[in-house]
Amino acid sequence: MVGSIIKIMPKQSVFFIGHGSPMNAIEDNPFTRSLSKIEGSLAEKPNAVMVISAHWLTNGTYVSTSPKPETIYDFGGFPDELYDIKYPCKGSPEFAEEVIKLIPEAREDINRGLDHGAWSILKHIFPGADVPAFQLSIDINKPFNFHFELGYKLMPLREKGLLIIGSGNIVHNLRMWFTKSSDKPYSWAVEFDEWVKKKIIERDFRSLVDLENQGEAAHLSVPTVDHYIPLLYSLALAEKDDKIEFIYEGIESSLSMRSLRIG
Ligand code: ZN
Repeated sequence: MVGSIIKIMPKQSVFFIGHGSPMNAIEDNPFTRSLSKIEGSLAEKPNAVMVISAHWLTNGTYVSTSPKPETIYDFGGFPDELYDIKYPCKGSPEFAEEVIKLIPEAREDINRGLDHGAWSILKHIFPGADVPAFQLSIDINKPFNFHFELGYKLMPLREKGLLIIGSGNIVHNLRMWFTKSSDKPYSWAVEFDEWVKKKIIERDFRSLVDLENQGEAAHLSVPTVDHYIPLLYSLALAEKDDKIEFIYEGIESSLSMRSLRIG
């Protein structure tokens, strides 16, 4: 039954988006304009979009199966207009089921809506909210290698018209963000962001998975793993013939907005 719903299409691209502040949901800036260009650049409209967001951390891996996901306001202290936004897309229980076929240990969560790591970017990528969207959670207890290998298992879904987006930030140090004196990038943030860029260009993803021994710049840039892990899912889905393109780059203080497209 499910197979008849999902039409076979050319392989979809994969993205990693550095989502930054929830305010990007309502701002018009160079970053959000880079997101607005995505839909028109896709070879074909995807059947559905799955986001692996830094803001859904769980024990075990979950897939959201709600047919009508709610917009979740998982942040505090922002202007009222941010809490008025609804992203009224449908969910995709059909594709969620396909994910579970590939990773049988994943469990369903029918109540989970879309967090701001998903809707704040989807609002710009698919402003018509006409592509069904759902999420895959991040099992926060697992090492980087687990996430990279899990991402790789999802490869067949690209050919079924699923657009997969990792949503986090390569450099994400909130402690330094709140104590910053200016938006000038920290030198360690530039160093780490450039190192990651180089490794992606060289397709040395192994170094990005084995981050432990990368020194001080890596420790300061990735003080917690939540915003870095979505990058590993996206990179795991890169095949040899996929072009990798940086669709946005920029560092504000201790936050890298670097975003990329695979294929
Ligand atoms: Zn975030």
